[in-house]
Amino acid sequence: MTEREEIVDQLVATVRRFAREQLIPAEQEVEETDDIPERIIRQIKELGLFGMTIPESYDGLGLSLFEEIRVVSELTYASPVFRSYFGTSNGVGTLGITIDGTEEQRRQYLPRIAKGDLVASFCLTEPDAGSDAASLTTRAVRDGDHYVINGTKRFTTNSPHAGIFTVFARTAPKEAGIAGISAFLVERGVAGLTVAKPYKKMGFRGSHTADVIFEDCRVPAAALLGGREGIGFQTGMKSLDHARVHMAAVAVGMCERLLDEGTAYALDRRQFGRPIAQFQLVQGMLADCAAEALAARSMVEAVAREHQDGRRITKQSACCKYFATEALGRIADRVLQIHGGYGYIKEYAVERLYRDARLLRIFEGTSQIQQLIIARELIKERTAA
Ligand SMILES: Cc1cc2nc3c(=O)[nH]c(=O)nc-3n(C[C@H](O)[C@H](O)[C@H](O)COP(=O)(O)OP(=O)(O)OC[C@H]3O[C@@H](n4cnc5c(N)ncnc54)[C@H](O)[C@@H]3O)c2cc1C
Repeated sequence: MTEREEIVDQLVATVRRFAREQLIPAEQEVEETDDIPERIIRQIKELGLFGMTIPESYDGLGLSLFEEIRVVSELTYASPVFRSYFGTSNGVGTLGITIDGTEEQRRQYLPRIAKGDLVASFCLTEPDAGSDAASLTTRAVRDGDHYVINGTKRFTTNSPHAGIFTVFARTAPKEAGIAGISAFLVERGVAGLTVAKPYKKMGFRGSHTADVIFEDCRVPAAALLGGREGIGFQTGMKSLDHARVHMAAVAVGMCERLLDEGTAYALDRRQFGRPIAQFQLVQGMLADCAAEALAARSMVEAVAREHQDGRRITKQSACCKYFATEALGRIADRVLQIHGGYGYIKEYAVERLYRDARLLRIFEGTSQIQQLIIARELIKERTAA
């Protein structure tokens, strides 16, 4: 084993303990207060997780995607809300800067994001541009040494806490298509940027999502991500290729937690004079959960390894996100069923996990959009051959 592998193994073991000993006991508090306690955020910072994906040269941990998914799936054995705070920040919030930012932009933002002193948000979705992100209408018009941004970004995760926003906007007329989309790094506090009131969501309590509104918001030309117009959409899609494997790893952690909750409950609950785990119909549900959780983990690990080998993983990352999050939905449903009426009652973790799980099939591209990406890539491969 190399020294690097030993360090990563230690980190994975520490995160595993952290999730079980610190995060799970705090889940109820987060649910009740709709906030992550400051002490937990401090511990996440101390573990370096705010800099998980950020290269070591910018004070991050510089984890490879394979290392990252190992850490993330251990952490999301506890509520996925804890991950949402740092994982979105150094996930889609930061990947654009890491992948395509100029050296100056990287130096300016990455070390502060890595420390957890600066939270980063990703502003792609708009009221009329969700799945069809390329139809976005937010405009950025050049005015001397500045750009003036106008538009509304919908459902931005962590925006109430963010200090920096990656904002996708059109710098050329709509006819230019995706080649007319650029990305900007917009700092909080700049005139013309407003964060709306957070939405009341079905689940993910403790994670805050709000619209971000730009009204004649003037940003310096140096805020243009990568220093070039027209590359923004590609930057966003490259970030999502990576982020979708990360999200599939989130689903893996949740699948494994649900499986354990279901097994423990089935062994404990007695009906007809014996534990319900002895009934074959219940065993069938548990077996399906175990098989799908293992399939999801195996798939995520295989694709993360491919990424490490430097291969383009657009199709594979969509396959991972699609399969793992759909499997999570089925597992959450079965585990709730195993709990009978108690699964519908708030005292049981499965009630909350079931609601949280629902989001994973929607954000960072719905399941239908993953299917479209997979099919598009398959057709492209076949016609190019
Ligand atoms: C809690 C939360 C947090 C979020 N965080 C962020 C964030 O941080 N940054 C950000 O930019 N966005 C964020 N989003 C937005 C999220 O990515 C979008 O909601 C998602 O991409 C779907 O867009 P939409 O809601 O407009 O649905 P729509 O695009 O209107 O889709 C509605 C339905 O139509 C289907 N559909 C659409 N087009 C097709 C098609 N061509 N073929 C087949 N079916 C289709 C969809 O699959 C879906 O079932 C967040 C959303 C939520 C709920």
